[in-house]
Amino acid sequence: MVTTLAMIILAGLILQALIGMAFFISSIFEREKRATILGGIQLSGMIFLALGFLYLYLNGLFNSGPGGISLFLLFCLGLGGVIFFFRSTRPNEKALKGAKGYVVGEAGRFDERDHVFARNRSLLPGSEQYAAYYRDHPEWEDMDAKRREKGGPTGRPGSIDSPNADANVAGTLASASLSHYLSEPDKYSPEPHIALREKVTRKKVEMGLDEATTRIKGYAKALGASLVGVTKINPLWVYSHRGEIFNNNWEDWGKTIHVHHGYAIVCVEEMNKNMVGSAPHTPTCLESMINYAKGSYITTQLAGYIANMGYSATANHFRHYDTILPPLAADAGLGEVGRLGYLITKKYGPRVRLSIVTTDLELTEDKPVDIGVEDFCKICKKCAVCCPSKSIPHEEMTVERGLLRWKLDAQSCFEYWGKIGTDCNVCMNVCPWSHADTIPHQIIKTLITRNQYARKLFNLMDDIFYGKKPKPKSPEKWAQFGTWK
Ligand code: SF4
Ligand code: SF4
Repeated sequence: MVTTLAMIILAGLILQALIGMAFFISSIFEREKRATILGGIQLSGMIFLALGFLYLYLNGLFNSGPGGISLFLLFCLGLGGVIFFFRSTRPNEKALKGAKGYVVGEAGRFDERDHVFARNRSLLPGSEQYAAYYRDHPEWEDMDAKRREKGGPTGRPGSIDSPNADANVAGTLASASLSHYLSEPDKYSPEPHIALREKVTRKKVEMGLDEATTRIKGYAKALGASLVGVTKINPLWVYSHRGEIFNNNWEDWGKTIHVHHGYAIVCVEEMNKNMVGSAPHTPTCLESMINYAKGSYITTQLAGYIANMGYSATANHFRHYDTILPPLAADAGLGEVGRLGYLITKKYGPRVRLSIVTTDLELTEDKPVDIGVEDFCKICKKCAVCCPSKSIPHEEMTVERGLLRWKLDAQSCFEYWGKIGTDCNVCMNVCPWSHADTIPHQIIKTLITRNQYARKLFNLMDDIFYGKKPKPKSPEKWAQFGTWK
């Protein structure tokens, strides 16, 4: 009996040390100095504990009466700890309903014209649309005019790294241009059946729901999507009116947006941790654009693939959105929307970009998930603490336009973007969910997904190992060594 208990405890201590070692090694590769040092100290402690226990066992300490009782208590303590932190605690019923779980009042569709980008990028001073818009929204005219003078929502590109930003800005603009090439209607919404019309058949390709879903997801992943989910489209997440104009199609401005498709295929593109780690400097902005381009590349082909099978499909990417992506992604079971306003996935946290294809091809829906984000965010607040423009609330969620959520101050956030000339991403970088997808982080995420006490524990651990205000990684380092992937 003593031997069995001692071996179980020893196995537990060795397993703990192995996880500690994996954390230490992964911290070295993640270039996290503080986590490496503290992880090394932690690992030494774990090894010392395992060896100390083995020494006591080999010297017969547990064969005496008090020794046996201590051994039993140690076993109970360890087993109790494992059960306490691994058991599944109360689920979040709101999250399990997807984004509609947070609709608590009269909610309406969002007008794309009200988006800071539409106002500052599309509206041209002197145009009739400009006059019409600011007649209805005089409160924004001065603010937008000043911002326009400084270069729009993102200001002078790369100014934070000036005078060494040019190479990164060149890459950023090159990647951004790909989405623009794909922003014509025949690209993002190809005519169904074009490829097969003359050559093979006029019929639609018929498939069962599951086969269609498997093929669609497989194709998207083959194109480079990191995660793919499917949901029926809740009309609440469709923009009400067109506000972004990229091809002089001014006749579309202000038109009601109709999406006749029933389904959304949501693609997640993982952003590189090292690049995001430089936030708010230019490499993180370059990484954003690379992944917007990837989203455009994936969804344009996916829409073409569906159209070639005889169905209607529209790509929603960086230069054409009919829908609001984070709530649809939550509905598609890809994660939950966090305090910072982004989708938080279990695997990559908010370190992702999203793109969507809407379609009339019937597919099997994914179910929304509860990964513990709301509860974790209530305790954490790291993004709010680190946000340079104080745009993320420290308080509880509030109700706005019938939606319960953490209300980001989009104006001050974009103001800061304009000042530094990048899309900042500090909140994305410091979020504990954004750590590299390594084995120790996967274990931690499994625990915090299941258990409310684990959320409290690992919140504290994140502050200890990574600091309350993590510092950005050197952007020069990326530029110099090209340590991209
Ligand atoms: S992007 Fe930057 S400024 Fe905007 S909310 Fe996040 S941390 Fe704040
Ligand atoms: S940093 Fe913390 S509070 Fe902010 S989104 Fe991430 S988990 Fe939530």
